[in-house]
Amino acid sequence: MKNVPEINHCIPSSNAFWCSTCYAHTQWCSSSSSETTSYRCRGCQASMFRPGQTLPWMYVLCGKALVMVPGGFLAGMDSQLGPFCVAWGGFCALIGGMMLYHCRKWFAWTNRQRWKNPTGLEQEALDHPFQPSYEKSEDFDGWAGQFLSDLEVQQLHEKHGSGPEY
Ligand SMILES: [Zn+2]
Repeated sequence: MKNVPEINHCIPSSNAFWCSTCYAHTQWCSSSSSETTSYRCRGCQASMFRPGQTLPWMYVLCGKALVMVPGGFLAGMDSQLGPFCVAWGGFCALIGGMMLYHCRKWFAWTNRQRWKNPTGLEQEALDHPFQPSYEKSEDFDGWAGQFLSDLEVQQLHEKHGSGPEY
């Protein structure tokens, strides 16, 4: 809020990347490998996730685990299907459980934020240890684009980007 007053990173937005350590939509450093792009929080280096994208996966994985593990035991561990179901269900439980851990923090946070008024949210953003800063980079555009339209991001560049290029 201090440096980029247009964006409050303490207002929950399920389609924006969120850091479960900083409890905010902090800016990130992205790094791409051939298959995936990972997003690390600039405040604490933890990896960030997009709740709107992770939640459906979490439900699917936890659901699979809940069906496959008991299903595998029912089929019997000496059958062909049993060990396969248990192993696969266990794997789903592991990944789903990790997601659940982060998503629970997300739910707790969105619940807390829901009851705060705009002034309170603004003050929280101003007091937050992580303060977003303006820069000319793809990472910044990606971050700002989560909250603003393309036009508004452009206006942000016009407003803040008058200084020397870097
Ligand atoms: Zn963080």
